Amino acid sequence: MTADNAEWKTTACVLCSLNCGVKVQLTEDGRSIARTRGDEAHPGSRGYLCNKASRLNYYQNRADRLMSPMRRCADGSYEPIDWDTAIAEIAEKLAAVRDTHGGDKIFYYGGGGQGNHLPGAYSRTSMQPLGMQYRSNALAQEKTGEFWVAQRMLGGWAHGDFDHAQVVIFLGKNPWQSHGFSRARISIREMAKDPERTLIVIDPKRTETADLADIHLAVTPARDAWLLAGMVATLVQEDLVNRTWLAEHAAGLDAVAGVFLDVDIADCADKSGLEEATVRSTARLIARADSVAVLEDLGVQMNRHSTLVSYLQRLLWLLTGNFGRPGTHYTANGLGNLASGDENGVSPVAGARIIGGLVPCNVITSEVLTDHPNRYRAMFIESGNPVHSLADSSRWREALRALEVSVVIDVAMTETARQADYVLPATTQYEKAEATFFNFEFPDNYFHVRQPLFEPPEGPLDEAEIHMRIAEALGAVPEGLEQELIDVLATAGREGFREAVFTKLAEDPALLGIAPGLLYRTLGTVLPAGMRNAATLWAVCHQYAMSSRAALLATGLEGEGMDLGDALFDALVSEPSGVIFSREQWSDVWARVPGGTVQLELPDLLADVAQLNTESPEETTAEFPFLLSAGERRSFTANTIIRNPEWRRKDAQGALFINPDDAARLNLGEGSTARISTRAGAQDVLVALNDRMHKGHVSLPNGMGLDYPDAEGVLKKTGTSPNELTSSELRDEYVGTPWHKSVPARIEAVD
Ligand code: SF4
Repeated sequence: MTADNAEWKTTACVLCSLNCGVKVQLTEDGRSIARTRGDEAHPGSRGYLCNKASRLNYYQNRADRLMSPMRRCADGSYEPIDWDTAIAEIAEKLAAVRDTHGGDKIFYYGGGGQGNHLPGAYSRTSMQPLGMQYRSNALAQEKTGEFWVAQRMLGGWAHGDFDHAQVVIFLGKNPWQSHGFSRARISIREMAKDPERTLIVIDPKRTETADLADIHLAVTPARDAWLLAGMVATLVQEDLVNRTWLAEHAAGLDAVAGVFLDVDIADCADKSGLEEATVRSTARLIARADSVAVLEDLGVQMNRHSTLVSYLQRLLWLLTGNFGRPGTHYTANGLGNLASGDENGVSPVAGARIIGGLVPCNVITSEVLTDHPNRYRAMFIESGNPVHSLADSSRWREALRALEVSVVIDVAMTETARQADYVLPATTQYEKAEATFFNFEFPDNYFHVRQPLFEPPEGPLDEAEIHMRIAEALGAVPEGLEQELIDVLATAGREGFREAVFTKLAEDPALLGIAPGLLYRTLGTVLPAGMRNAATLWAVCHQYAMSSRAALLATGLEGEGMDLGDALFDALVSEPSGVIFSREQWSDVWARVPGGTVQLELPDLLADVAQLNTESPEETTAEFPFLLSAGERRSFTANTIIRNPEWRRKDAQGALFINPDDAARLNLGEGSTARISTRAGAQDVLVALNDRMHKGHVSLPNGMGLDYPDAEGVLKKTGTSPNELTSSELRDEYVGTPWHKSVPARIEAVD
């Protein structure tokens, strides 16, 4: 290791939405990550890392790296082409779709994962000239139901103050493995050892978090709605609601109480597989607690009644007054809002509700594979792998091949890229400045712009540059504008640049669309080395400084007028561990609740509650007697940006977990092979006996089934891709989120 490389560089982990701060040492040649430790100066993680961060080099250094634009040939193979040819052909073909059928027939998917949200910001540069209207990303198969409910009740998504809550409830959530809040394992251990606090886990499986819980409610798979309805009904029927708090802060109590007075708690308990006494005593414990914080996640969000469950769990803590004070819940002050629950009309073919601007992932293929005149005819996909990560992989392959033109931007030849007409290579997340908007801390919130670790190789380009080149090929960038702004920067500095940009935008509002790419090409050239990709955040900082001036000044940052936005931007690009950009009081949370009043009454979901006792849940059939939880988070699963299977220290094949009693009945032993069949397909899987599993419930991990070249360069698949078994038809009636955690399945021994 040279003196240079002995230096600890600062970055972040990109393997889950927490993006913990990481310090790394590089190898002597400067090309690989040699050592990793937590970054004590990171405002969120404060030195914390889980086991996964030490494997980040598998993302950066890979045998499947794309180095040149690729064009699909008639036989399905790919040929490398130069950038000028790729950009010219893509622009021409997308413009033809726009001019013949309308830009709204070009669909956009992706724009960032758990480590990189800046491609999404830059994508506007080409989307706007193309007139693209519809888009989606993974949030629309996980979170949009929760966002929609939260928006209607509280005006925004609320996060729990888990470190200070007396009672913490994890609902369909195993934070030991999937995190979901800062320093999760440390927090869970502290909760577990504090006798004054109670940790409750609601999960069919006895997870690592459940091991540490005071109460584990092993609900029957897919029956969370009944358990929660029984608990809310207990609050109402035993008059445990916080009437004083509700009178001051909430509306709609009478309507809610009217419905829950009629809910049969014994029936709810029976359907959820728990004792009535347990349901009632847990509700009483919540009512008695000084403070309660709840975190729901994919175990319920990708399951039956998911939107209803999001509503019921909020009623549990709102009826007991657990919002807007320490230890409860808050809506965070963000630099951007990725958790919007706004309704934005419906999708053009299926008429599916669009939440936060996102078309439900489960309707996209049906909006391609149709002769409907409004069908999507082209698709732009970046930082996303829908063929692998969305329901029904085979239908996704069919849909992509049915398009008139499809373009993928990625660092590797993914399952999705292998169906596209053009594949464009991007720089990795460690070769440019990057950031995410998944920051929900309070009372201090932070933003972390990562500085690059490596020089990009010849070939790949930043997504910002790709979008800008397409915009130029479309004729959307006025001649001379870029140079004019660069000259202003050189002669009049940042203040003159600001004035020139705002004047140009006022004169020609169409420039707003290409503004991100323009900032990359102009302001980006004068930023500190390697930070060009952060340029689009300049506009975000100015917007934020205008809307949240008091919260920004409270952090100690200074600046008169528009200078404050520039001061924030300069701090973001120069501080390697992140910057606190918002400092608030608990009273500020109420300013984000419309009218300062929580809305308890959601008539559509209350109507569902009224039906629960007459509903006879029957998730399985004689043909498919098991429920598959597809995409379980385990100790060596993450998002799919690491494709090399060697990164896993254990569970290399991603085994099917099955209860030993079920396995014995089916003559399955440890390490045997089983065939799992669903309505969507069948796969052979390795079996692992696991007495933590509920009987009748099996699980497969997420992130498996990716192709990766072996030593001879031959692509090999490791494990089973869960979405070869899932269906886009099994989905929530309100927002279309899939029921991946309760897929009816059949398990058979393979000879
Ligand atoms: S996987 Fe998540 S929790 Fe673990 S180190 Fe990375 S960002 Fe932090």
